[in-house]
Amino acid sequence: MNRDEVNRTIIFDEVVSITKIPTNQIIELKYCQYLVDTENRSVCTNIKGYFCNAFREDDAQNRTEANSQGYFDEDPVWKSLVEHEYLHSLISELLYDRPSLVLETESGGKFHPSWLRYQEEALVIGVQYLLNHDENRDELWTTTFKLVFENSDLKIIGVDWLVDQCKFRIADLWSRIEKDSQI
Ligand SMILES: [Zn+2]
Repeated sequence: MNRDEVNRTIIFDEVVSITKIPTNQIIELKYCQYLVDTENRSVCTNIKGYFCNAFREDDAQNRTEANSQGYFDEDPVWKSLVEHEYLHSLISELLYDRPSLVLETESGGKFHPSWLRYQEEALVIGVQYLLNHDENRDELWTTTFKLVFENSDLKIIGVDWLVDQCKFRIADLWSRIEKDSQI
């Protein structure tokens, strides 16, 4: 196993642990607060006082969508929603050091152009797919990032650089979340 393979494996394990999201308590990230409300089956992201609430009907279409992203356990629509909204913020903070452009636009706080929002959406869905498809994770991880960052506004030197960034920032963020949840 070379250095890059080791890095990708470590990152994947850390992302998996991060998605064990605490419920009914506010999760403090750098640019937002996230709340999973199990009673009302909704999630809420607070970005600088602007609220983005999300709810997803548990119907046939949404179940098919959740299944296509690899959610097959009980409550696939709900689980997919909780992770999806969280990953919007998490990925934006980890990779770009900014709040989610999608959620910030939807909250009415600040508008961001659609092509940037689609790029973020693709990355979130790509990571969700990755988290649920363990067997091909190394290949998929690389492919996802290559796809997302092709033609993007970022000057990405290479996938390895990005992987290093993720590893460092995920570890940092996870330690802060753990610390907050002990209070
Ligand atoms: Zn989304």
